[in-house]
Amino acid sequence: MTAPTATPSRINVMKPWLGEEEITAVTEVLQSGWVAQGPRVAAFETAFAEAMRATEAVAVSNCTTALHLALVVAGIGEGDDVVVPSFSFIATANAPTYVGARPVFADVDQTTGNVTAETLEAALTPATRAVIIVDQGGIPVDLDPIRALCDPRGIVVIEDAACGAGSTYRGRPVGAGAEIAAWSFHPRKILTTGEGGMLTTSHPEWAIRARRLREHAMSISAADRHASLVSPPEEFGEVGFNFRMTDLQAAVGLVQLDRLAEVVARRRENAAYYRNALADLAGIRLVDDPAWGTANFQSLWLEVGPEYPHDREGLLVALAQAGISARRGIMAAHRQPAYRGRDTGRVPLSVTERLNDNTLILPLYHQITQDELDRVTTVIRGAGTD
Ligand SMILES: *Cc1c(COP(=O)(O)O)cnc(C)c1O
Repeated sequence: MTAPTATPSRINVMKPWLGEEEITAVTEVLQSGWVAQGPRVAAFETAFAEAMRATEAVAVSNCTTALHLALVVAGIGEGDDVVVPSFSFIATANAPTYVGARPVFADVDQTTGNVTAETLEAALTPATRAVIIVDQGGIPVDLDPIRALCDPRGIVVIEDAACGAGSTYRGRPVGAGAEIAAWSFHPRKILTTGEGGMLTTSHPEWAIRARRLREHAMSISAADRHASLVSPPEEFGEVGFNFRMTDLQAAVGLVQLDRLAEVVARRRENAAYYRNALADLAGIRLVDDPAWGTANFQSLWLEVGPEYPHDREGLLVALAQAGISARRGIMAAHRQPAYRGRDTGRVPLSVTERLNDNTLILPLYHQITQDELDRVTTVIRGAGTD
């Protein structure tokens, strides 16, 4: 009789990498007595702007509020069309809806999963005043041809860099070439503050307005009011929001930002390992760096082709049976009930649907071990030869 083998431990698609330094940083904030938006948020903004080579950085509560605020400061509202990929987390489509604009869906390029100047141009309408382009899964979007299409038409290019921290475009951080970009620090992304977001922009006047709007459009910030014993009465110049980040979150963000280069280097090594281990497998294609930049592989996805013996669902089941929690690939907003019945333009979204049906995201996190990588590739190779 053979001894029962131990059930292999579960492998998740993503795990945040948090340690003692984050615990110390949060403890210091708690001991300081100032836990809401204050000096740590300001320090995180300065450090993030420098790291991403942005003129201005404004910290907010998450990337969804950053996108919302980006549209407000860019002057987008009722009656305007905003072209967005359907192939993205739903927040990309929701942001225009929040300001009363209409999201119009564009298709994506099959190799990168990103919109291109061509797919955007096909979706432009006479009412298009902005586009939101996404560095999907951390793959840098090809910004220059998109700016060349949009700038002469007066269309604002907003970069949804939720997944993009640590990816580069033409030698610079993604987002650096955008008029305005939005970032996420959700634990599913590369750099986390629990929840959190950032807005970066090359327009100082947009940053000034965003700083005010995130804090109820109050004329004097809570931190400044606290600094003076008798502050002037505050004024609310327009209808604002509470989109603030806390100093507890920013303290974590400062530590995480310091580690970004190390985290991205490790992810790229592990992505390369997956790529080599699966390179000769018919019907499996892993997303890769495009010619114009380097990816952080926030979501390392693969496309299952007809030459592979299983479809995507079959491969997900084979992985799950081995204790591996891969995930279906990026969602398609136009297929969700929230948008199915709405008028979101008329462009065929055939590549979006194909990628939505046939891709899955591989487990990849900083602490992933060689043994775990091998378990994943063994299942994919094994299922690929039966
Ligand atoms: C995660 C994500 C968002 C939303 O980020 P939150 O910080 O959770 O609001 C927006 N856009 C894209 C492309 C994302 O992946």
